[in-house]
Amino acid sequence: IERTFSIIKPDATKRNLTGAVNAVIEAAGLQIVAQKRIRMSLPEARKFYAVHKERPFFGELVDFMVSAPVVVQVLEGENAVAKYREIMGATNPAQAAEGTIRKLYAVSVGENSVHGSDSVENAKIEIAQFFSENEIL
Ligand code: ATP
Ligand code: MG
Repeated sequence: IERTFSIIKPDATKRNLTGAVNAVIEAAGLQIVAQKRIRMSLPEARKFYAVHKERPFFGELVDFMVSAPVVVQVLEGENAVAKYREIMGATNPAQAAEGTIRKLYAVSVGENSVHGSDSVENAKIEIAQFFSENEIL
């Protein structure tokens, strides 16, 4: 059984879409095994998106992630990493498939409602940034 890390981003929490996003996650057979609503700090957001620090949108991305509360989650299930990427849809909602979270709810390529880990290895690193093992059950 595999785990992935998810963030319900500020554009979604602000529009009261936490439950709607969770409904899509659960309908896909992924189990929410840890979840908390937090306000990300600037250093936390910079660390989380450090791989993108040379990209032109880095400043905008980090500012967005600290602009309102987010919901951080651990999702568990068979092929959880790939399955969640599939139900999230493409980064740009204009290119996201029908029925995906981003097609349904995202505002733009920046304000795209959710994050999901892109590999099992990164999922472990990202989960460890926000959860201790005894919070996952
Ligand atoms: P995430 O890592 O959030 O799950 P992703 O893997 O689909 O999304 P990445 O390429 O890792 O996409 O980009 C990380 C995040 O940076 C995107 O989700 C989006 O919020 C933001 N981003 C990516 N490209 C752009 C862009 N061209 N303009 C503004 N923001 C962008
Ligand atoms: Mg990514």
